Amino acid sequence: MRATVRKIKSIPHTGQGGLYGSLFERSEQEWLLHTKGFRRNAKSIQLNETLCTIGNGYLNVRGSLEELPEGHAGGMYLSGIYDKSEADVEELVKCPMWTDVSVWSEGEKFCMSTCSMLFHEQVLDIKKGMLHRSTILKNSTGQILGIESIRMVCMHNVHLGYMLFRITPKNFSGSLRVFSGLNGDVCNRGFFPEERLKHLQLEKIERGRSFMYLEMKTREKGIRIAEAASWKLVSPPSSLARPEPRIYGEKFTSEMTLDVRKGETYVFEKLVVVHTSREIPADNMFRRSICALKSFIRTGAEKHIEQHIDSWQEKWKQADIRIEGDPHAQHALRFNIYHLLINTPRSTGSIGAKFLSSEGYLGHVFWDTEIFILPFYLYNFPEAARNMLLYRYETLSGAILNASRNGYPGAKFAWESASSGEDVTPRFASKLERTIRLIYTGMEEDHIVSDVIYAVEKYFRVTGDEQFLFDCGLEMVFQTARFWAARAVCRDGVYEIHRVIGPDEFHEHVNNNAYTNYLVKWHLHLACLLFKYMAKRHGDRLDALCSRIELKEEEVANWLAVSKNIKFAIERQSALIEQFDGYFALRDYVIRGFDRKGHPLLPKGVTYRNIGSTTLIKQADVLMLIHLFPHVFTDEEKRANYEFYEQRTAHKSSLSNSTHAMMGLASGKRAKAYHYFMKSALFDLENLHGNTAMGIHAAAIGGTWQTVVNGFGGFSIKSDRLVLKPWLPKKWESLSFSVRWQDRIVHLLIGHDTVSLLISAPYEIEIPVNLYRKTYKVPTNSRQKLSYCSS
Ligand code: BGC
Ligand code: BGC
Repeated sequence: MRATVRKIKSIPHTGQGGLYGSLFERSEQEWLLHTKGFRRNAKSIQLNETLCTIGNGYLNVRGSLEELPEGHAGGMYLSGIYDKSEADVEELVKCPMWTDVSVWSEGEKFCMSTCSMLFHEQVLDIKKGMLHRSTILKNSTGQILGIESIRMVCMHNVHLGYMLFRITPKNFSGSLRVFSGLNGDVCNRGFFPEERLKHLQLEKIERGRSFMYLEMKTREKGIRIAEAASWKLVSPPSSLARPEPRIYGEKFTSEMTLDVRKGETYVFEKLVVVHTSREIPADNMFRRSICALKSFIRTGAEKHIEQHIDSWQEKWKQADIRIEGDPHAQHALRFNIYHLLINTPRSTGSIGAKFLSSEGYLGHVFWDTEIFILPFYLYNFPEAARNMLLYRYETLSGAILNASRNGYPGAKFAWESASSGEDVTPRFASKLERTIRLIYTGMEEDHIVSDVIYAVEKYFRVTGDEQFLFDCGLEMVFQTARFWAARAVCRDGVYEIHRVIGPDEFHEHVNNNAYTNYLVKWHLHLACLLFKYMAKRHGDRLDALCSRIELKEEEVANWLAVSKNIKFAIERQSALIEQFDGYFALRDYVIRGFDRKGHPLLPKGVTYRNIGSTTLIKQADVLMLIHLFPHVFTDEEKRANYEFYEQRTAHKSSLSNSTHAMMGLASGKRAKAYHYFMKSALFDLENLHGNTAMGIHAAAIGGTWQTVVNGFGGFSIKSDRLVLKPWLPKKWESLSFSVRWQDRIVHLLIGHDTVSLLISAPYEIEIPVNLYRKTYKVPTNSRQKLSYCSS
């Protein structure tokens, strides 16, 4: 199903029931995502649920319709709450739901699956972080009911959720029953279709005069999740609508019977508080949750909605990017940024490959996080990037276990990581060809180890946060270097890394994957540099760390030897980098056919079973390497490798498009760059791989942001200076954004031949800025207009 911005001719609004003035007013069209119509199939229902997820990075809720039509996959997910129980590996837990509401007339539920739909739309307001729903349903007896809802989870206080629910009988008066509660009877869907895994068990269910309370705990580790809610009819005030609380097992339901009058609107409000025992002591959950709920009620929803909107305004002030002249790209980009904003880690914790939008990939954390997603936070909300890296630090003991289980010293970050850092990659999967097969990524996709360190280095370079380096970063760098030095094998003085999977997962058990080897070379060199730097400047700190992790200078000297002598080559004549040993000798194919959506088609005779014996690859691999180290490779090398590998890439991963967009820009293939950029930006909006129902592709989202800022904006930071190499697609009139760099904010307004630049800082200095071949000294706090020529 397509989700696009459309002009709505008429919105059958019944008003807000007089509540909260303009707070619920929808933002301007350019900030709205309309999903109109409704198809009664699970995939399309779930696609909308994914796209319309609301959240704040602590708790996110899919955009499921309140009555939960058949085929829905509604769910709430809390950052960092994983459980294993009977599952093969730990997975992100679906938490008790609070957004369910159902309206019944004479034993028949008003539901999208069973009633005739006279009107329906969901509108996600990405400026305010609110989801609106507007529906008119006709039941089997001809009764017509208008249903509207607005829901949000607070951005300023991550524990609070709010929902407004309105019903209007359009052509009848009579009796209606309205149910809403807290539903702990939820299961994860599992890795294989419809496994239905139960991760929670009931701890406490309570009711009071004005609250309902449900406390569940994860079955394996006993992490408590508490929800307290108040649900009431607020307009028209009616003493007749008395909620009747009912408890069914793990489900709390409040039932209200209403005598409704034709044409009148009945407005309900739900205020919710969510906590886990990760923030408050397990034995205090009830008291603290009820206190928080009471305070929410006392302060009033209005105040909180105002604060929520202010908080969103602040977020957008920093993170918005304007593209003038291309509304389609602008809208898609904003939608991408919205999903980044609702997943900002609030405390130590990371981000899974599907954000908190679903159970896809079991909520696991991959390299997507450090390489694709983290830069957005780094340049906009560096404290969130720090939280993400702290997660890796806090799970270092899991990484040490991963290494020792494989017979190595040091630390090996898991290909798929959850609560402890131990590898949780599933052992089996039903892959593209729909057969069950063994998964080797957990055993072999080791480049993740250096991907994390790449992010650590970048974080330090952009923020200058020495404290993080001293407290956590160095230990991570050293422990992982130690792993690599042992993992590499020496053959006639050359170090090789055997049996790996590179970013291209079509080829397993390969030796000397260029991406991996180069990253290891860089990683070990970085470890040596840091060791030397620390020895010179902060000897005491280094000594303390070395004695804690038993690191000696000889070991560091060995890292340097491995780094210098690791196998890595660029063919002199062709300027090509061989993806791994023997790659060039494989059956060679290039992609010539594309389907109607523009996706590459595999050549005749090639299937996902035999693709490993061909040169066709899943996603950017060598190009990913060149993209991460642009200064190491010449223009000729960039061009040659782009031309060679792009033709052989099947783009079967959502990660591939943004890298090809940025590499297209770096190798002079600008038209292609725009094409790949739009694919990345629209990946979920247009459901390009047909699996957005299973969650947002977080790496595509992060990659889209990078393509705009680092690609078209050409922005990067090199030690003390800014480097700018912008190029704008023809139809873009200008591009503007702001990024944080240490204690400065860089504001950029880029045109086709000028850059207007303001570096705000709490001091006056001159900062070197490279704009293509010229270097300028730009004073802080003074807007400068510089000219450039990108040809
Ligand atoms: C992915 C792997 C992943 C595996 C199991 C595959 O589809 O390509 O990276 O490890 O699923 O989650
Ligand atoms: C990709 C991996 C990625 C994973 C999770 C796989 O399909 O090949 O590179 O880490 O999905 O997004």
